[in-house]
Amino acid sequence: MIASVIVDVASKQTNKAFDYLVPAPFIPTVKPGMRVIVPFGPRKVQGFVLAVKGDTDVDTSKLKAVEDLVDVKPALTGELLQLAEWLTNKALCLQVIALKSMLPAAMRASYNKRISLAEGVNEQDLSEELKTFFHKNGSVMWDEVKKKSETLLGAVQKEIKSGRLFVEPVVKSNETKKKTNVVQRVLSTAEANEHAEALEKKAPKQSEVLRFMEEEPIAVARLLEKTNVSSGTVKSLVSKGFLTQFEVEEYRDPYEGRDFGVSKALPLMDQQKTALEAITSTVKEDRHETFLVHGITGSGKTEVYLQAIDYALKKGREAIVLVPEISLTPQMVHRFKERFGSEVAVLHSALSKGEKYDEWRKIRDKEVTVAVGARSAIFAPFENLGMIIIDEEHESSYKQEEAPRYHARDVAIERGKTYGCPVILGSATPSMESFARAKKGVYNLITMDRRVNDVKLPHVDIVDMRDELKSGNRSMFSVKLLDAMKDRLEKQEQIVLFLNRRGYSTFVLCRDCGYVAECPHCDISLTYHRSNQTCQCHYCGYQVTKPNRCPECESDHIRFFGSGTQKVEEELKKVLPEAKVIRMDVDTTRRKGSHEKLLTAFEKGGGDILLGTQMIAKGLDFPNITLVGVLTADTMLHIPDFRASEKTFQLLTQVSGRAGRHKKPGEVVVQSYTPEHFSIQLVKEHDYLSFFNREMYFRKQGEYPPYFFVTLINVSATELTKVVSVTGKIADYLRSSLSETTIIHGPATSAIPRIKDRYRYQCMIKYKNEPRIIHVLQEILKTYQAEMSRTDLAINIDTNPYMLM
Ligand code: ADP
Ligand code: ZN
Ligand code: ZN
Repeated sequence: MIASVIVDVASKQTNKAFDYLVPAPFIPTVKPGMRVIVPFGPRKVQGFVLAVKGDTDVDTSKLKAVEDLVDVKPALTGELLQLAEWLTNKALCLQVIALKSMLPAAMRASYNKRISLAEGVNEQDLSEELKTFFHKNGSVMWDEVKKKSETLLGAVQKEIKSGRLFVEPVVKSNETKKKTNVVQRVLSTAEANEHAEALEKKAPKQSEVLRFMEEEPIAVARLLEKTNVSSGTVKSLVSKGFLTQFEVEEYRDPYEGRDFGVSKALPLMDQQKTALEAITSTVKEDRHETFLVHGITGSGKTEVYLQAIDYALKKGREAIVLVPEISLTPQMVHRFKERFGSEVAVLHSALSKGEKYDEWRKIRDKEVTVAVGARSAIFAPFENLGMIIIDEEHESSYKQEEAPRYHARDVAIERGKTYGCPVILGSATPSMESFARAKKGVYNLITMDRRVNDVKLPHVDIVDMRDELKSGNRSMFSVKLLDAMKDRLEKQEQIVLFLNRRGYSTFVLCRDCGYVAECPHCDISLTYHRSNQTCQCHYCGYQVTKPNRCPECESDHIRFFGSGTQKVEEELKKVLPEAKVIRMDVDTTRRKGSHEKLLTAFEKGGGDILLGTQMIAKGLDFPNITLVGVLTADTMLHIPDFRASEKTFQLLTQVSGRAGRHKKPGEVVVQSYTPEHFSIQLVKEHDYLSFFNREMYFRKQGEYPPYFFVTLINVSATELTKVVSVTGKIADYLRSSLSETTIIHGPATSAIPRIKDRYRYQCMIKYKNEPRIIHVLQEILKTYQAEMSRTDLAINIDTNPYMLM
């Protein structure tokens, strides 16, 4: 038997499968999708088995053999192996990088395998040679068996296959499986009640425990919490022989011990009904189709998702739900757990590696049918997918910014085609790309423009901060916002204050007239470079020295922009000393679980004002929030990115959606230095369509997506001259090999010209129709592959860049 293996060596030369002999003892086990250890040159490396076959073109006497198995069950399904091939081509990355990105982080760590007796199997049932191994504690490590002999290893694998032994990975760090102390009743229900009665007087606590416990074992910690007794009480019951206590290995369920309750499907509003019917009809017919659900905040999209998933599950299929990392709030998780209970696995970056691995394993082992998670959950190893949902589809976090540089939306559609199932993109502010596709009929557009129960959208006020300054208000709060805050404090209603930190202090703004320095050739803001006091365009390389006076109004109030949450908090203490402020930013949420704690505290009324950054923009649904204040709407507007307006409109709409979601009406105050900008004005009107049309006009003018495709080539190395010459040659090559209508910018320095002593240059390609592009880009990588493996030169290509830094 021959295995063709993709080895884990990061070099272009190894970007193909190599054949290895499979030694006899491994033959029953080796399958495509498993990881193995193979010799590669002088090293031993991990690799993925792509296929197993009977023969090879290579001279078999020259073949090396597989040394060991990493997995005993395939880590990747056949479908994921194919998807990896597609991804390799699409994202121009090494195949091994694509394969590894589909596994949870814990599986990228090194680990051993533990072999245990299956349930109901006695060591006496095993052959003589195996018996001794399992005699003592019922399990043995793979490495130990392997050390003994090959025949023994063969025998073990046979038993694994027959089901009498089973194998599980043990991560070689401290992230091993967790053991939990549990107790179980030895008595029947009738006996338990009898004893409970007898103990009622003398030991009421013990009596209570007996009454509380059901037949199933329960974790001691949970029992104590539920009955509010001490561990002594439980011990007494154990020593009386009423309960037995033992340890079980448990999935580390990060949501363990919480009561999620049960939620039932709500009777739907008309628009929800229409949406649901369109989606379920495709599930019924096993038909792939991509839907774009354009639904305003609070229109009941999530309820539609829940019922659509339910339909797919009832048909025996599985579902993946992607939610942006920052809106994967406890609230969001609860809504899925309440509806689908233990059918749900949650993949969240806040989980430990071990927890994530356990959740992933539940999916692989088909113990759950719904996966809810951030970007990488798109690779959930289901094999009978019936639905993929991407909530807040416009979020840029769905794009991975390191190899493989993929967008989850593209992966979702690829998998949707494979399984013949719908992909549902949902947003109140769809991305320009998706909405344009929906308008062209590539996606099926579903519109939900009414809130559930016709709750009104909040009233939005836009305050011109230049006027505030003119009238002598130098504080960061406008009079309007301050008055509104005072009013809410009086009424004991809650306030959300939003401070945008992205793009912080990198652009130059005149505080008197709102002027922002822009590139005369590219219509994007210039980036301020502290090192040499210049403003630069990192698309085309244009640069000017930083102005000391505003070129528009001559004011010297021109500076780079921003203020941090801490500063805002101090200011709040001065102007509203009685307000209880909960601050949420990267500093206050670093510790695991603190994000949730702060939100819960706020929900329970432990704060009047929730002050935060991006992380409070989404997913909050608290009835008592009636005022949202946006301190500086402009920060996002001037990041050097053609998506700046889009991001601004999306973010402001999102934040506004936090106010007045329930009975009490909401109000939003947006402070801005450029209030006339359409992406700010149209938030006031809640008018996505006008925004879309205006922005499309600018995209057409600027030759940006969705009219043009953009590819970004980044070149970096420690030696500047090399970076310059390589980027120059690449630009020349592009100009000579791509069509006339294609636009090539560069070479230009990147927005961050040097990171960790590496100089960075880039080329940008804008094209409409360029069938040869992937080929041309692959040629570039091929040309430099030798140099890249020899030196520290790196060339990264992104065919759909979201970070233009
Ligand atoms: P979206 O995801 O579009 O922002 P949600 O699904 O969160 O909207 O719905 C907003 C609120 O309305 C939630 O509190 C939800 O429970 C409630 N809701 C949704 N659909 C219905 C319905 N059909 N009947 C009553 N309440 C609903
Ligand atoms: Zn000015
Ligand atoms: Zn420019």
